[in-house]
Amino acid sequence: MKGLINKKWVVLVLILAIFIGLYINVCHSNAISVEAKCGVIDLLDWNFEKDGIIHLDGRWELYFNELLEPDKLKNRRPDGYFHIPGTLGAQLAGKTTGYMTLHLKMMVPDDIVYGLRINNRLSASKVWVNGVFQGSHGKIGKSFAEERAIYLPVYAFFTSENEKVDIVIQASNFRDIQPIIYSIDFGLKKQIMGVYTLSIIMDTLIIGALLMIELCYLAIYFLRRKERTFLYFAVLCFLIQLRCLVLNERILVQFYPEMPYELMSKIAAITYYLWVMMYVLFLKEQFEDFSKRMTDFAVLFGSIFTGICVVTINTFYDRLAIYGHVFLIIIILYLLVFLIRKSRERDINGRVSLMALLVLAITGINDVLINNGVFSNVYVFQIGMFIFAFLESYMLAINFSTGFTRLEELSLENQSIYEKSIRDGLTNLYNHKYIEQILSSSIDRYNELNEIFTVLMIDIDYFKAINDEYGHPFGDRVLIGISHMFKKSLRATDYVGRYGGEEFLIILPNTNKVEAREIAERIRSNIGNFTWFNGKLHITISIGLYENQVNTKEECVKHVDQLLYLAKDKGRNRVEEA
Ligand code: GH3
Ligand code: MG
Ligand code: MG
Repeated sequence: MKGLINKKWVVLVLILAIFIGLYINVCHSNAISVEAKCGVIDLLDWNFEKDGIIHLDGRWELYFNELLEPDKLKNRRPDGYFHIPGTLGAQLAGKTTGYMTLHLKMMVPDDIVYGLRINNRLSASKVWVNGVFQGSHGKIGKSFAEERAIYLPVYAFFTSENEKVDIVIQASNFRDIQPIIYSIDFGLKKQIMGVYTLSIIMDTLIIGALLMIELCYLAIYFLRRKERTFLYFAVLCFLIQLRCLVLNERILVQFYPEMPYELMSKIAAITYYLWVMMYVLFLKEQFEDFSKRMTDFAVLFGSIFTGICVVTINTFYDRLAIYGHVFLIIIILYLLVFLIRKSRERDINGRVSLMALLVLAITGINDVLINNGVFSNVYVFQIGMFIFAFLESYMLAINFSTGFTRLEELSLENQSIYEKSIRDGLTNLYNHKYIEQILSSSIDRYNELNEIFTVLMIDIDYFKAINDEYGHPFGDRVLIGISHMFKKSLRATDYVGRYGGEEFLIILPNTNKVEAREIAERIRSNIGNFTWFNGKLHITISIGLYENQVNTKEECVKHVDQLLYLAKDKGRNRVEEA
């Protein structure tokens, strides 16, 4: 549990909470439900500015299996009342198809421009306010063949006449297999427009953000074809995007107003089934131990139901949807169990995916409940899908960065292996082989570019005696100490290596013998002045100094070696140059 509650998660959850809060705040009209009594609502005392938008709920006059225009209603008594929001089946004795006229009278203050927003009512409808035709979605009909359904919300803006607003809606339903009449928004013109504009902005934002995520991962996939995760994820985002385009504000219809209801419904259904399939494929790529059988099952389920949606009409596949939901619930439950197990194994991918799936499930259940009229609130599945995409791309980002970290570790490992191969184990100076390599390349640069350099060959004086007197381990400590002193006396561009037991080679690039002498003397005196063994012991070194004049490494070493022995011969603790 402790690992779950760290700062990163708190920040992540906070961002998501702010986003959901913002979305609900923006898209939820905060409408208050006002109940009509026997087809009449009295709003004379309602202060729209202060109290906001209302839902025209309650009992509307109902004329079943009649399509009546406003003037025909004047002296008619209704067959009964229809309670909004409500399902057709429950209120019309089990009938789910047919046509009807609904009528509502309102008393409202004059001299105000009002707005009405009616999402598609049943599969087609037509609206009048105060006897003036306001618009329709689709073409209402008295039979399946006569009816033509398109998705398009109706907006009406009008003023009252003598404090009266009279709304007449004709509606037919032959396509929606679970018809519900939802609440209708009524308020000031600017309030109605505001709600619509904001929710369209929100949908557009989500679609735009998804487009960016999708393009980004598609590009990565094209660059790294073997990582199918990225392809599946891009397709997932695309399906979510498509769903956002046909649901909620149904932005697609704004571009293609004549787009048939059937096509919209098909896209919505197909994206739903394909999405499940892609998601399982995506998880299979993420987790090696994800069940192959479940993957096959999900692919089979997705393909069959997509196929059915493509070739049959919506009243057919909508009836099958209940089986689709059952399969889907089985798959989702399996995924939940799997991801919970992964989370318990402290798998970070499992945890993020679990969170994503939970958000999706909760928002999905919310919308299913709204669709079934259990409660009327904000549709949040869009935002759920967006958060899902956000979290899963966060997971991919984690994978990415883990990959990079691993790579860095590997390169560090390689680097340290390399470092070890060029260093002397005791003194950590360059080893014989490597300092010779540097000498070779210095000679090459001398030959090719005339770049000068000087070498120092150093040997500790009477080191055997020190070993003998103070012991070999002390000798080792002296070698380490002297190596430190070399490093301290040299520039970053100089090289120092342990050439043999207690012999060292220093290469001073771009340094002539005059400058080198200064350095050599400094090293000699630094070491010579240092006292070992509580001030009792002084250790000196002899140095051969040779500014290179030859064209091979061997000759160079020979020269400097000879100079070192000259220094020894001349009494030690001195620098000899050519
Ligand atoms: P000089 O150079 O002044 O002529 O006398 P020296 O006693 O130092 O003679 P030489 O350079 O031949 O000495 C080499 C000695 O260095 C022999 C060996 O015991 C010692 N030696 C070599 N490698 C190591 C090492 O890794 N650790 C220790 N403690 N001693 C080493
Ligand atoms: Mg020696
Ligand atoms: Mg020696």
